[in-house]
Amino acid sequence: MTDKEKKSEANFATRAVRDGYVRTHENEHSEAIFPTSSFVFASAADAAARFSGEIPGNIYSRFTNPTVRTFEERLASLENAECCVATASGMSAITATILGLLKTGDHIVSSRSIFGTTTVLLENIVAKLGISTTFVDLSDLTAWEKAITAETKLLFLETPSNPLLELVDIEALANIAHKHGCLLAVDNCLCTPALQLPIDLGADIVIHSATKYIDGQGRCMGGAVCGTKDVVGDGVYGFLRSAGPTMSTFNAWVFLKGLETLKLRMHAHSAAAKELAEWLVQQPEVKKVYYPGLESHPQHELAKKQQSDFGGLVSFELKGGKEEGWRLIDATKLLSITANLGDAKTTITHPATTTHGRLSPEQRADAGISDGLIRIAVGLEDIEDIKADLLRGLR
Ligand SMILES: *Cc1c(COP(=O)(O)O)cnc(C)c1O
Repeated sequence: MTDKEKKSEANFATRAVRDGYVRTHENEHSEAIFPTSSFVFASAADAAARFSGEIPGNIYSRFTNPTVRTFEERLASLENAECCVATASGMSAITATILGLLKTGDHIVSSRSIFGTTTVLLENIVAKLGISTTFVDLSDLTAWEKAITAETKLLFLETPSNPLLELVDIEALANIAHKHGCLLAVDNCLCTPALQLPIDLGADIVIHSATKYIDGQGRCMGGAVCGTKDVVGDGVYGFLRSAGPTMSTFNAWVFLKGLETLKLRMHAHSAAAKELAEWLVQQPEVKKVYYPGLESHPQHELAKKQQSDFGGLVSFELKGGKEEGWRLIDATKLLSITANLGDAKTTITHPATTTHGRLSPEQRADAGISDGLIRIAVGLEDIEDIKADLLRGLR
């Protein structure tokens, strides 16, 4: 856990490279890694004072590690948050948020269009503890407000959604949440703080799977929760300290270096995705393209208002169904057939039979996941090579 005092007033790209680090006595230029489980105290009295919290300092790497803290401070700075708690994965960031802040009897209102495992977490694990969830359509503000009860403590969403890239007005939803005394948590995995700052729009909590764009090269698992000292610094950090889903020191170092190039990468992913979306619109085999950067996207104006760019994910519906979709995927030679995203390598997925394969055909139809839907997470290869690879299967 970290606090704001050590943050600079510099602009985003500068903070992404510089914030959070205090050089050691060795005067290293690149950030040092501290792979140690515990820390040594000067005396018995020093140990006692640190354990009681009377004086700050490192104790044990489950909850205090300098490399992890550097990552936390840098990400908090980028999200304009008071503090940040790093976790072992994106899922443990969501778990730490819910279990750190809610109790039996509390209620969550969540967007229906969230990461599949988050749905499983809410329905199968969090529900067992007596914390129930009502799912609503992401962009339907009336439905959000109607679903709030006296027990509702948390509103949870991702925007844009995956794979259909629908948005919600974060500012409007934050106002609804606060009117009813609820916290608004935004999973900012798809945009990252380089493209969208939910806290500036009124959200209370920002959650990350650092595994995706923050790493950016598909190497490490990690997550983070950003927010105020009162909410994240107390409840979420308390859960981390006692329950222990700690980010590894090595992973924190990789993510720290990932943050340095985040803005450059997010704009490169976005530029390539926009070009691909515009190209897909022109292909006769394609029925519909989902990308918030297209003027035809029903929420294009909202995307321009609350994001600084449109992100790396593009989905499209073929005129054909599953057979044509699988044929397109199998004809690619460059793209990776995997459901991961946020990598330098472009990935291609058939949501109906992978990420959404466990849903019934009716549930899939409800969620708008047709058999001809393809999702591409555009990487950093040359866009002409990506188009050529797709053309093999389209024609
Ligand atoms: C991948 C993902 C998660 C889960 O993160 P892990 O690091 O895989 O645990 C949560 N939310 C979104 C939007 C994701 O894409």
